[in-house]
Amino acid sequence: MSTTILVIEDEPAIQELIAVNLSFAGHKVLRAYDAEQAQTLIRAELPDLILLDWMLPGASGITLAKKLRADERTQQVPVIMLTAKGAENDKIEGLEAGADDYITKPFSPKELLARIKAVLRRRAPQLTDDQIEIGTLRLDPTTHRVTGDDKTLTIGPTEFRLLHFFMTHTERVFSRAQLLDKVWGDHVFVEERTVDVHIRRLRKALEPTQHDAHIETVRGAGYRFAATLPKTSSK
Ligand code: CA
Repeated sequence: MSTTILVIEDEPAIQELIAVNLSFAGHKVLRAYDAEQAQTLIRAELPDLILLDWMLPGASGITLAKKLRADERTQQVPVIMLTAKGAENDKIEGLEAGADDYITKPFSPKELLARIKAVLRRRAPQLTDDQIEIGTLRLDPTTHRVTGDDKTLTIGPTEFRLLHFFMTHTERVFSRAQLLDKVWGDHVFVEERTVDVHIRRLRKALEPTQHDAHIETVRGAGYRFAATLPKTSSK
């Protein structure tokens, strides 16, 4: 699953180094040299994660981090601060401003990728490549394969993304609007009943092994993916 990462760093050599390593690891990279440029990019496309340098020309990284947290559209996007300073106060200030983590320069590409993965696993598990298993239903993001009771299930790309999201967010009720936002992405203009169409297809795809029973319709609220199957199976 390709993750879009916005790198905000004013030093060209460091920006390049980060971008190359992220691309090499399979991420899509957006780059900005300052807060203003970053905000323009964010308006066009919401990234899945932001790497934000502390010291930037113009508005500082910390000011931008606070702005991102205050804006409804960007408040859920994980932010990792890059800082050259190791001072304890800066770390605390960064975390208080809403950053999810911070990395002190200089850092190795390996450390950077490990931190990104850890933050994504915590904040957006549907964006990682971790295999997920719930009961006898298994989803593998690397091979794009879904199996139920070890049988391969045929599933479309949108249904796959929907299932991936559900399996990483079990037991919570999501409205159609929330699912559109989380699975289809923001800035996507599709009608809410599109969600129902894909839920129907997903249920059909899971039907051969009766894993469709995981998906519950919550009247007037939306849908929920149950972590366990109801005991009363028709078998
Ligand atoms: Ca800098």
